[in-house]
Amino acid sequence: MTTLAIIGSGIAGRSLIYTLAKEEKSFEKITVFYSDAFTFPCTIHSTAIVAPRGLSSGHSPLGDNLMAGFNEFSNHVELESPKGVEKIVQYTGATEKLDMFKNRYPNGSVQKLFLKNETYIATENAFLIDPTLYTDWLLSETESMEQYHLELIQDLVIEVEENERVHIKTQDGRGHSFDKVVFAGGNYNRFWKDLAPTSKLKTSKPVQGSYFQFDLIQWEMDSFSLTLDGDNLIWNKPLKRLLIGSTTEDTGHLLPPMEELKAIYQRISNAVALELPPMDKGEIKVGLREKAQKREPYLFQEGHKIFIGGLYKNGYTLSLKMSKDLSRQFL
Ligand SMILES: Cc1cc2nc3c(=O)[nH]c(=O)nc-3n(C[C@H](O)[C@H](O)[C@H](O)COP(=O)(O)OP(=O)(O)OC[C@H]3O[C@@H](n4cnc5c(N)ncnc54)[C@H](O)[C@@H]3O)c2cc1C
Repeated sequence: MTTLAIIGSGIAGRSLIYTLAKEEKSFEKITVFYSDAFTFPCTIHSTAIVAPRGLSSGHSPLGDNLMAGFNEFSNHVELESPKGVEKIVQYTGATEKLDMFKNRYPNGSVQKLFLKNETYIATENAFLIDPTLYTDWLLSETESMEQYHLELIQDLVIEVEENERVHIKTQDGRGHSFDKVVFAGGNYNRFWKDLAPTSKLKTSKPVQGSYFQFDLIQWEMDSFSLTLDGDNLIWNKPLKRLLIGSTTEDTGHLLPPMEELKAIYQRISNAVALELPPMDKGEIKVGLREKAQKREPYLFQEGHKIFIGGLYKNGYTLSLKMSKDLSRQFL
């Protein structure tokens, strides 16, 4: 039987172990390496919404992939009732470039909702995710399946070599050998580009995202997500948490663009008829997303090494669907 290593315990790595367990794939052992202190995970620094966002099939491979990802996630919620996932309404509105917007969201209507002014808004069924609760659930569901030998090693992978098998060395100096390895290291996958020189890893890059997080908010209304002219306000009632953001910066560091972040808060504050907490009460959250060529996610095999990533702004939408693809194609 095969031994499998997975580098990464973010949404990609955990969706994969969950999928393999659900599909009852047999392995002698699965070992997950992670080192969140050194390779800062994007998964828990994410606004974590799964929504169709006006997409329809048949226009682009990326759009089709995202639609399939949304459908896969919807079925997962329906059939498996995961913890940390709430069904919500996604409101998406625009005051600028209305013709383009109406093309993408033809079923919207002019309404006020919780805005100060009448605005063209489309509504969609969506999912709001508590990243910690949901990814912990994925792990605990997998661990509770007896046939499944899962080992978690909290250490940084610093070397990967391949001959008949794949040899992994970690920061503590220990070596481990496996039949196959999956790289699910998010934006850190690019450090392994020499192992797959002709792939999309060559050009993948980190793109920073940041947002305000306000806790202990006492709003009575149900959870919802609002996107207005590209700015987001996300209300999570069970967590009493409000998120406002988010920025997109073509950079690999974690210093947020404060002026842009404040400008988003200000635009949201001007638009909504809701009492927002003062800006200085917000905690600033920053994540590094992995953007691959043309924003398209990748999944490919090179020898005994499998690479999954480039999930960019859609890690929660794509991970389950891509895990199924990975399992079908390579394991
Ligand atoms: C501000 C913001 C908002 C977002 N909003 C959404 C949204 O609304 N909806 C959505 O679907 N997505 C959203 N995303 C994107 C989503 O969060 C990411 O696509 C997703 O988290 C990427 O997951 P991942 O598992 O690939 O990587 P990560 O979460 O970064 O996990 C990588 C893992 O690999 C490990 N690792 C890496 N290298 C090594 C190594 N050498 N040795 C050991 N361990 C290693 C790390 O420790 C970590 O466990 C958002 C992102 C940001 C920043």
